[in-house]
Amino acid sequence: MPPWVRRELSGWARYPVEACHEFRPERRGAVAEILASGGQSSYIARGLGRSYGDCALNRGAGVVNLTRLDRFLNFDEDTGEVRCEAGVSFEALLQTCLPRGWFPPVTPGTKFVTVGGAIANDIHGKNHHADGTFGAAVNEMTLLTPNGERVVCGPQRNADLFWATVGGAGLTGFILDARFRMLKVETAYLKADHLRVKGLAEAMRAMLDSDAGYRYSVAWIDGLARGKSLGRSVLMRANHARLSDLPSGTPNPLWPPPRGRCGVPFKLPSLTLNRWSVRAFNTLYYATHGDAAGKLVDFDAYFYPLDSIAHWYRLYGRRGFVQFQVSFPAASAEAGLAEVLEKLSASGRASFLAVLKRFGAANAGWLSFPSPGFTLALDLPMRDGLPRLLGELESRVLAHGGRIYAAKDALTTADAFRAMYPELGRFRALRAELDPRGLLSSSLARRLGLARAGAEAFA
Ligand SMILES: Cc1cc2nc3c(=O)[nH]c(=O)nc-3n(C[C@H](O)[C@H](O)[C@H](O)COP(=O)(O)OP(=O)(O)OC[C@H]3O[C@@H](n4cnc5c(N)ncnc54)[C@H](O)[C@@H]3O)c2cc1C
Repeated sequence: MPPWVRRELSGWARYPVEACHEFRPERRGAVAEILASGGQSSYIARGLGRSYGDCALNRGAGVVNLTRLDRFLNFDEDTGEVRCEAGVSFEALLQTCLPRGWFPPVTPGTKFVTVGGAIANDIHGKNHHADGTFGAAVNEMTLLTPNGERVVCGPQRNADLFWATVGGAGLTGFILDARFRMLKVETAYLKADHLRVKGLAEAMRAMLDSDAGYRYSVAWIDGLARGKSLGRSVLMRANHARLSDLPSGTPNPLWPPPRGRCGVPFKLPSLTLNRWSVRAFNTLYYATHGDAAGKLVDFDAYFYPLDSIAHWYRLYGRRGFVQFQVSFPAASAEAGLAEVLEKLSASGRASFLAVLKRFGAANAGWLSFPSPGFTLALDLPMRDGLPRLLGELESRVLAHGGRIYAAKDALTTADAFRAMYPELGRFRALRAELDPRGLLSSSLARRLGLARAGAEAFA
């Protein structure tokens, strides 16, 4: 029987925390042995646990941590195509490929995610309007299906299985390895422009008007501003810097000098981030981030500012937090986002992070989150009454035709999720065929009606 240990696991937001049975296989072949052993009622894959909620949790059952599957299988330095095991992290991708002039095609706000996790949540970055999701760069992957079969799938081969898996939250099988395209760059630096705007409508307009000129675009929003200042923001738009943009004599254009890392040493009292401290931070941030053009910043500073603070989730205190990430279609985005921001501001709760991005065309992933429009992410400390507030926000999201990102979520209901994801029926039908015994399941899957526990049949 493959060994496992009982561990209290959580996502990045530390809510919820659940006792799970964790396996840590070292070879791709060992994953099949774990599945075949049948020792657990169900199993779910886990990467680096950077999803915020419960998609990589499986209360009282199997969680297969795949971070030891971290081998590079091939890297074509001419075309930038990588083939690697699913547990390879973006940090390792950067270390291996960036010095050779290749950057991840899409990256989230942390480099501590795995390739498997990036596919399973079909992650997006600040370049969705230009490049789509990570899934769009995947040529092929090997999936271990619940019946123990290895199936190679891609956009041209077993396409249904591929598009169900891209964004499928680990519920179609274990991604063992993947082949994907990196992006050619000349330097490890970005050339960034900052623009301070007074309100939400202005921020959205500025993105629409200028996104064609920038590969990356994101707005930091003051989530506590109200009235005429609702949605006041600092837009940070950037392109990869060319060699000619760097000062002459830059020692290594493809790798910046190392920087220090600090950390939050222990879980702080839940009051550390409160309305007053966040208001003070936001006022200072807005005041000190004036308009600027052509700022040269290294990739770590632009894409991964939070990675330099180890364990930053501890700032939210012992009860953890919830990230509420929503998207709205372009037509209803302004009204929907304004309602969410107004309700949040009126609730007296403070979001330390509030980030706005624009989404371009959706891909074919059945449960992929991004669709054309705008997306807003808010981090909210877990306190009494938060689930009720999020329930109210969720009904506003539904009223405006929006949806919630499952990778960040811990509280949405199955009914709401069904209304947000029109391809859910198709996904469940494929799962019923692929996994009739319900061998793959997770806490998120049961909460959102994506899978049933144990051997129960699908409704
Ligand atoms: C600071 C921060 C910033 C972030 N910014 C963004 C952002 O800008 N955009 C964005 O889209 N996301 C963002 N995220 C979320 C993160 O990118 C995703 O949650 C990602 O999926 C995490 O990858 P992971 O390796 O940690 O996977 P985990 O969180 O461990 O698992 C995620 C899901 O993938 C499945 N899975 C993992 N590995 C496999 C595998 N080999 N086979 C099958 N299924 C698998 C799991 O079952 C689970 O459903 C951010 C997270 C943090 C902490």
